[in-house]
Amino acid sequence: MSDIHHILKSRFGYDQFRPAQEQIISDLVSGENLMVIMPTGGGKSLCYQVPALARAGCAIVVSPLIALMQDQVNALSQLGIRAAFINSTLDSRQVYAIEQEMLKGELDIVYMAPERLVLPDTLKLLKRVQLSLFAIDEAHCVSQWGHDFRADYLGLSVLAEQFADVPRIALTATADKRTRTEIIERLGLQSGRHYVTGFDRPNIRYQIELKRNAKTQLLKFIKTNHANDAGVVYCMSRAKVEDTAIWLQGEGFNALPYHAGLDVTTRANHQARFLREDSVIIVATIAFGMGIDKPDVRFVAHLDMPKTIEAYYQETGRAGRDGEPANTFMVYGLQDVIKLRQMMLDSEGNEEHKRAEQQRLNAMLGLCEITSCRRQALLNYFGEYLPKPCGNCDTCISPPPTWDATTAAQKALSATYRSGQRFGVSHVIDILRGSDTQKIRQFGHQELSTFGVGKDLDVDQWRSVFRQLVARGYLDVDLARFGALVLNERCRPILKGEQSIDMRRDVKTKNTTSRRTRTPLPDDIDVGLWEALRTCRRELADDQNVPPYVIFNDKTLQEMARVAPRSYAEMSAISGVGDRKLEKYGATFMRVINQTLG
Ligand code: ADP
Ligand code: ZN
Repeated sequence: MSDIHHILKSRFGYDQFRPAQEQIISDLVSGENLMVIMPTGGGKSLCYQVPALARAGCAIVVSPLIALMQDQVNALSQLGIRAAFINSTLDSRQVYAIEQEMLKGELDIVYMAPERLVLPDTLKLLKRVQLSLFAIDEAHCVSQWGHDFRADYLGLSVLAEQFADVPRIALTATADKRTRTEIIERLGLQSGRHYVTGFDRPNIRYQIELKRNAKTQLLKFIKTNHANDAGVVYCMSRAKVEDTAIWLQGEGFNALPYHAGLDVTTRANHQARFLREDSVIIVATIAFGMGIDKPDVRFVAHLDMPKTIEAYYQETGRAGRDGEPANTFMVYGLQDVIKLRQMMLDSEGNEEHKRAEQQRLNAMLGLCEITSCRRQALLNYFGEYLPKPCGNCDTCISPPPTWDATTAAQKALSATYRSGQRFGVSHVIDILRGSDTQKIRQFGHQELSTFGVGKDLDVDQWRSVFRQLVARGYLDVDLARFGALVLNERCRPILKGEQSIDMRRDVKTKNTTSRRTRTPLPDDIDVGLWEALRTCRRELADDQNVPPYVIFNDKTLQEMARVAPRSYAEMSAISGVGDRKLEKYGATFMRVINQTLG
């Protein structure tokens, strides 16, 4: 058995590498520089943890996520790996002790925040330590175009300059072409190997609905699918986070708010409860989640539309990292578009930046309105091609009905034009439907040739037409003039009758997620034993103040319940039981098995 296979089995308890891991790991062990783009849950950590053990010296892992470092170090210690972290939560005496251990070669892995790493004193120290590698986690943070830009990441170019002979591996889950180029440039990975493994997350089901009553829709989604599950609900504003959390509590859920306006202690407390307890729902702004390392999040819901597909994919990607079925759910409406466009206009940044943001928003809108497979569209956005519709998204499961909306679109556009491109959606609909309102009379709009030509559709149907015209870029919304509709150049072919347009028919969405996604216990597992093993895991976790999955994850525990090992040899054959965990927990779990099964 080769060195790296031996490490995989004895330390981590796994029999096989996943497809790309083996190649990445042997490259890194032999000293290459690498960039690795791998989806969440794909197994990035192993890509540097195994080489950290296979190569001599100490590995430095750069991560912006100070809050996670303790958990990561705990998880590694469970495997008998000598790990520590250096960040602002430690006092100088603690830092000194760790530095001494590094100098003596007593640590395998040290986590560091980038701002700490680039300090002159730290660099000086590192020059005296034998280093095995640098792993730059969440590497997309170097991108100024991205949504997680961290200025401290720019300083990481010193690694290539000052530690040229220490191999570097940059890792991230989301990076479009431009971000990848930036990662390669800034971290000096031009001559290294680049691995982009598939983006697909086949266990995640995507569902996007039209916003009618967001709370009722969310409640129905959670109650039917996830009554006892852990999940995340994203909202755009802090006020809405608070409001939604309180409301979910009133509905009997264990819901906790999380946003940047809460004090540090509350935030840390809510995050810890989410990690440690079963079935907590976190209601959060986007401040929550980067790198949240909880494998069994069963759903991610959005009550407001994210600004970009990257953000949507990253946020939804926090569901189902353990590979078990997970659901995502989003409601969106015309108001979301208007709000986001407004935020974009108000934001700082030059014209080019705003234009790029606008394009990204349009792509997000396109995803909402699409009538074909959502997964194909998502992957396509990241430059990946999925040959067949996925069968696991709402549009695949119940294809939305469409209708030829060419005539309706022409009427809508021309009513907008003839009323002077000065009015919002409601008034233009009044014109189309021939309503007798004060405003109609005030502007003499009953005289327009388009007055009353749209009585065949009701108000909701017209709203749907306007929403889709805006979403597809045929109409613009002029925010400086209170949401007045303005024709976009693109609508010309429709007005001239040169182009037809099909639209999504808005019907009340059937619940496409009714399949129970709470990981169903397979038939061949004894429920009593499963519960007993879980209780044992919980007690061990509580004793050490770590999340249960740090002891054993669900997959390992299920295999244990199925096989019911009664000897050390049988126990060590379970995937996820390495030497150290066998030694620490083997006897305890075997006792539970003997007691339960007799
Ligand atoms: P990422 O950082 O890419 O999101 P992780 O490194 O957290 O993913 O890995 C996700 C899960 O997959 C973890 O529970 C990890 O232990 C498991 N895993 C990784 N590689 C393997 C493997 N070769 N065999 C079995 N499980 C693995
Ligand atoms: Zn699909």
